[in-house]
Amino acid sequence: MLFHKMGYDASKTIFNFGFCYACVIAMLYIPMMPVLLAYEVQLVKREYFNRWYGLKPYYAALVVSRTPATIFFSLIYLVITYPLTSQPMEGPRIAMFTTICIMVALISESMGTHGIAGLENLALIPGLVGSAPIQNIGAYGVELKNVCSYVDMLNLITGSIERIPALQCGFGYRESIFKHRFRLGYVIISVGLRLAKQWSPNLVYGDLATLDMKTVNPRQVFDTVCAMRRSKLPDPHKMGNAGSFFKNPVVEAIKFAELIAKYPTMPHYPKQNGQVKLAAGWLIDRCGLKGYRIGGVEVHQQQALVLVNVDKATSQDIVLLARHVRNAVAERFGLWLEPEVRFIGATGEINAIENSVFLGPALSVPLMLLAVYGIGSGDDPLPIVWRLARACSFLRYGIEGLHEPRWLLPPPSTTLTQLRLPSH
Ligand SMILES: Cc1cc2nc3c(=O)[nH]c(=O)nc-3n(C[C@H](O)[C@H](O)[C@H](O)COP(=O)(O)OP(=O)(O)OC[C@H]3O[C@@H](n4cnc5c(N)ncnc54)[C@H](O)[C@@H]3O)c2cc1C
Repeated sequence: MLFHKMGYDASKTIFNFGFCYACVIAMLYIPMMPVLLAYEVQLVKREYFNRWYGLKPYYAALVVSRTPATIFFSLIYLVITYPLTSQPMEGPRIAMFTTICIMVALISESMGTHGIAGLENLALIPGLVGSAPIQNIGAYGVELKNVCSYVDMLNLITGSIERIPALQCGFGYRESIFKHRFRLGYVIISVGLRLAKQWSPNLVYGDLATLDMKTVNPRQVFDTVCAMRRSKLPDPHKMGNAGSFFKNPVVEAIKFAELIAKYPTMPHYPKQNGQVKLAAGWLIDRCGLKGYRIGGVEVHQQQALVLVNVDKATSQDIVLLARHVRNAVAERFGLWLEPEVRFIGATGEINAIENSVFLGPALSVPLMLLAVYGIGSGDDPLPIVWRLARACSFLRYGIEGLHEPRWLLPPPSTTLTQLRLPSH
């Protein structure tokens, strides 16, 4: 009614333009709203996250099923408003106006699903949103913590829902509070993301560095990340793998200076706190381990950071290969890689790394005393030959231990760490 009979009034051209504009806005927003409101999210959750089918067929089916209704209701709207506002009854004008309105209505729905950029560097990381904060997923310079605003958890004991602000999530490199304090008895039910309206690309890693910061758009970043991942990482659907097996080590500046002097081409990424992140894949590659195989598991030929199941690998094979890789890197670079994957034992998750204490040197003195006592004791039922052999063995062990000056120091737990075998 606001624009009643304005189409014929030359003094109100601007208002008539306003009517056309209002029509376009109406056509734009009405079909877009269900997408933006929770209704569409519920559908996507049910259809896609239940893995009934993929997003492409879902949206294709949605568009096809909605198109007749969109055209029908748009026409009803136009049949009422066009004559009501006294727009010229000329065939070409009517056709043009109707086509524009219907086209806008059809594309507006997809605009609702267009989304906001900011997560494109995380493309192709498998997994659901609920598990993303647990290890603070990250790739190519972006981590979930960069965009996470809060995490909502359901407390399975009390039934209450608790909201943890991002600052209290303890996010670190593949780390969070959900791996520790909230590991048991909680389910993450939603993750709040805060994406900047003003998009700023992160082009530090790999082929992304070749893109032009000024002209690049989110789609190009997304495509480049997908291309990089597809070219380097094995498809888990075709070749079983768990993505990066080890974390990229972060070293102190002194250690880095020592390494870069020896290996000037070593990729490195300085952090704000002065530490430097190194590429675990490069370290493994430099140990010549690409393609190295134990049982059914192999260090991937293209990306040394990934262990792949090439032929019915057992958990034993995986741990043995991981142990070998870890030892090789430690021997060459003096760095112990930490597994990124989590180890699940027979009774639940276990700490992947055994921090064993080397007791040998510390035992040397008591063993030598025992050896001397053993030789001298008349109550010992063993024949003298056996007693001598035992004493020699104790002495050898004791002397060997005494050679190790480390026994005076705290247990060298870092240099003796080892990956657990699955039986533990
Ligand atoms: C090929 C490949 C490539 C990968 N690349 C990357 C990468 O580039 N960067 C990276 O960071 N990670 C990478 N990953 C690891 C990936 O992030 C994790 O595998 C993923 O986050 C797990 O998601 P999921 O939904 O499959 O969780 P699941 O494997 O189903 O669960 C993982 C753990 O989280 C728990 N969990 C799951 N959902 C919830 C919930 N809602 N509430 C509480 N606990 C829950 C489960 O109990 C389980 O302990 C890669 C993995 C693969 C296989």
